[in-house]
Amino acid sequence: VNRWTRSVLDGLVPGLCLLCHGETPEGGGVCQACRAGLPHMGASCVLCGAGMPAAGVCGQCLLSPPPLARTVVALQYAGTARHLVQLLKFRQRLPVARVLGEALAGAVGASPEGGGTTLIVPVPLHRARLEGRGFNQAREIARVVSARLGVALAVPGTCERQRATAAQSGLEGVATRRRNVAGAFRVRGDVRGERVAIVDDVMTTGATAQELARTLRTAGAREVQAWVCCRVAGPGSG
Ligand SMILES: [Zn+2]
Ligand SMILES: [Zn+2]
Repeated sequence: VNRWTRSVLDGLVPGLCLLCHGETPEGGGVCQACRAGLPHMGASCVLCGAGMPAAGVCGQCLLSPPPLARTVVALQYAGTARHLVQLLKFRQRLPVARVLGEALAGAVGASPEGGGTTLIVPVPLHRARLEGRGFNQAREIARVVSARLGVALAVPGTCERQRATAAQSGLEGVATRRRNVAGAFRVRGDVRGERVAIVDDVMTTGATAQELARTLRTAGAREVQAWVCCRVAGPGSG
């Protein structure tokens, strides 16, 4: 039994809360109390998702509108939410994808101007990273969101990451991050006329989502939104 198979089995065996280690009546994942205590994002820029005192469009987006029609963020990338993302990505705790996916579907459903999305595209991993991890966390989350909201999930390979980019978390500054992802993606499926929602686990500056959005628009997508589980809260915070 390899690590991947064991992780899948973990998700099927009724277990303990991944955060407080208390019993979860639902069996595995995260208990009700810990779900309720996740750090919700609160008000954020409708275009880029950056934290704001009140909902609206941030100064950066007014100066230079992103290629995103809307960004929906469920949680702040902090505290227990950050811990969950790390459990999913680095310790292969797949039940976390359901918790994060449900939080994201809830945020999309609760936000105004919802609806109309025709295709969900998870941010692709480069093949080398996919082979290392065994799964794409964004796709696992997107699967849950797709089922909850009844929006089609793009088949694997619709969009590829053709360059192995440095991890965005290790780079300083918006310009550096933007250069790092320039030309990183290639669309292979037919997205013409689609109203796409990009799904990812974490948004830092938004450079990755914006680059993917530009690539999808060039390939003929009618509109692109970003739906992300967690975002680094404030402008300029990384
Ligand atoms: Zn708990
Ligand atoms: Zn903004």
